Amino acid sequence: METKEIGIYIHIPYCRTICPYCDFVRHPTSCNIPSRFLEALKTEILSLPGSYSVKSVYFGGGTPSLMTSDQIAFILGVLASRFGIRIAEFSGENLQPIEITMEANPDDVTASKVADWQALGINRLSLGVQSFSEEVLKYLGRRHDACTAVRACEIVAGIYRNWSMDLIYGALPVETWESTLCMCKTFQPPHVSTYGLTYEKGTPFEARQDEKIEDDVSLELYRQAERELGTYFHYEISNFAKAGFEARHNLVYWTNEEYAGFGPGAYSFLENVRSRNEIDLDKYIISPCGKSERLNLSNYEVEVETLIQHFRLARGLDKSYYERRFGHPVTMRFGEKLQVLIQRGLLVEDEYAIRPTSLGFELNNEIGLVLVD
Ligand code: SF4
Repeated sequence: METKEIGIYIHIPYCRTICPYCDFVRHPTSCNIPSRFLEALKTEILSLPGSYSVKSVYFGGGTPSLMTSDQIAFILGVLASRFGIRIAEFSGENLQPIEITMEANPDDVTASKVADWQALGINRLSLGVQSFSEEVLKYLGRRHDACTAVRACEIVAGIYRNWSMDLIYGALPVETWESTLCMCKTFQPPHVSTYGLTYEKGTPFEARQDEKIEDDVSLELYRQAERELGTYFHYEISNFAKAGFEARHNLVYWTNEEYAGFGPGAYSFLENVRSRNEIDLDKYIISPCGKSERLNLSNYEVEVETLIQHFRLARGLDKSYYERRFGHPVTMRFGEKLQVLIQRGLLVEDEYAIRPTSLGFELNNEIGLVLVD
């Protein structure tokens, strides 16, 4: 049987407090992460049928940095037994052939914990700084303050070579974005993610829609990030990296390749099926293999999604890759639509690839609208 390479996402749905803008699957807890949740994760991971090897592992949440070292080791051990991942103990250099990322909240960061995470085999950290402005952190309802964010960055930058700083723009007051970007640069993280604040349905922020900034202000903040992070490669709409530090796990999503998600609410895309796990935490723990959504995608739908995802990347779509993957040239089904997008200045084409222009980055939704039409 063919062994496919996939990305693995593990959702840890626990947080100390709930941020009012957040619509992720999360659950407040003042205690440790319960062992019955970890047992449910184990059951789900070991129940996945099929033959797969793993190219990346990503612990997201929620707040994965609430896990104890033993709990992280437990999950890595389950992954090692199911997928044969070789997770070497840390010995001064990165021995893993795969990227293993964990999201961390600044208020969980201490030098000894970060050293433990690295020793366990977590070879990339994604630090949820969000802002260095006290006012913005309060506006977002974050538990950490600006001093804690600075201290966490100092610790992580001193121990990890491969780490990302996550930032949010568009929170009030917006004028603080520039100083947050300047502070970010002082730490020189090899990877930076910048996401616009959203006021999602079902969150306390839904009732505060009138505070949302105008689209043109949001666009200006986006451009400001691009200018300030000019020494980085702006390789994906919201992401910047130094050479060789692109997020390998997220590239699985942005190339529409296969991944398996474990934990409540986690998505998977395997064998042309997109599915979502049970969202309710208690139900998940009782029945960890239950699905809340399951969608069989046609080959055509997978091709459309593959194009849309690739056009989030500066490198765009490699035409020969597409032909190898789908067995026909991209122009066969999408030639006319691609020409429309090229004429509108959203894409450019050369002999090898079709790429988004900077206008295509800024108006990325329009690319999707034309392709699904
Ligand atoms: S933003 Fe992060 S820390 Fe805050 S509630 Fe959501 S998952 Fe938890």
